[in-house]
Parts: sequence; structure tokens; C-alpha cells
Amino acid sequence: MANRPGPVRGALRLVGTAGAVVGGGLLAVSFVSSACLGAFQSLVEANRKKTAPDCSICKGRGFTECRLCNGSSVISWSPLLDPAVIKPCLCPTCDGNKVQRCLNCVGRGYV
Ligand SMILES: [Zn+2]
Ligand SMILES: [Zn+2]
Repeated sequence: MANRPGPVRGALRLVGTAGAVVGGGLLAVSFVSSACLGAFQSLVEANRKKTAPDCSICKGRGFTECRLCNGSSVISWSPLLDPAVIKPCLCPTCDGNKVQRCLNCVGRGYV
């Protein structure tokens, strides 16, 4: 089996190159538009922040006490459902930070 670029392979490579160029162009366009959108959204966000009231759930902090560990950063976890082998584990929800992102304002601190 000869393994050299024939006419078919050459054409395929051309198609592949054209596809990459088109794809790259689309990627660039979507990147630019998403950048514009991001700038626009941050502008809207900044305006909202000025007028929006603080989140009543987290008092504007953007986070609340972790509900899973109740702010203790560890949970009692038993691998065998046996009370004798219950051991404290780092809370998987807050990773030991004792706080979780406010679900009411999604961590923004205002609604
Ligand atoms: Zn926690
Ligand atoms: Zn909140």
C-alpha cells in the first residue's frame, strides 16, 4: 500500500484547509460578537448594580452560610451507614469555605 499524497488526498487537504479558514473566521466573528456582548452586559450589569437593592437573603454579600455543613466546613459522613464509623469529612458543597454562593442573587449580592 503506497502511502504518498495522491490527487484525492491533495483535494481533501485543500477542503480541510478551506474548512479551517472558514471555521477560524466564524470563530473570530463569534469571539468578537461575544466580546461585544460581554462588554454590553457588564455595562448593563454596572447600571443595575447602582439601582438594584441588596439581596435580602445574603444581605448583599453574595454568599450565605453553607447549608450542608451549616458553616462548620465538615460533615459527618459514614461510608457504611454505620454510626460507629462516622467520621468528619470536608464539606463537598463549600470545600471547607463554610459559605456557599447565594442562590437568590447567584453571588452578585443584589437582585
Ligand atoms: Zn459546607
Ligand atoms: Zn444573595
